[in-house]
Amino acid sequence: MSLLPVTLYGDKILRKKVDKISDVDNETIKLISNMFDTMRNANGIGLAANQVGANKSIFVVDVSKVEGYEETKPVVFINPLIEKYSDEKIIFEEGCLSIPDIHGEVERPESVVIKYYDTDLRVQTLEANKLFARVIQHEFDHLQGILFTDLVDEEMKKKFKKPLQKIKKRKIEVSYPVSETIDYQIL
Ligand code: ZN
Repeated sequence: MSLLPVTLYGDKILRKKVDKISDVDNETIKLISNMFDTMRNANGIGLAANQVGANKSIFVVDVSKVEGYEETKPVVFINPLIEKYSDEKIIFEEGCLSIPDIHGEVERPESVVIKYYDTDLRVQTLEANKLFARVIQHEFDHLQGILFTDLVDEEMKKKFKKPLQKIKKRKIEVSYPVSETIDYQIL
């Protein structure tokens, strides 16, 4: 098991629109495996590549530990594109491994259809609902440089200001390995 440091709010790579990948080499397979280890070690249910400093269009999701989602298999999304959003939206509280100890309600479409490549670079299409759809949207946003704290209402944004500055200055305690500098980038 290999754990990678998780990038934190303030790290430049979290604000970058990551690059698509054209092949899945051994390095990428290793990265994906390490992303699953890193996510599970931190009790996360989704993780994007730029959250471990990698400039690659990849995210992983595993909601199988969540009640009601035991049958949902872990998925690796490569070069993903959300093709359809439902008109119906729901509000739900979100958190993020890159923004420890901060939670806020975000309104998002209830379901999505996402197209992506698997590790054999075959095109896949998946329809996701509720929590699964929410995690997918949250992680997809990461790959565009968007964080959930950008999507909360104005009142919440004000409330987040100070705690976010603390994270930026690393004046926090986190139970999993995190990046030490804001320029952390592995690939
Ligand atoms: Zn996140």
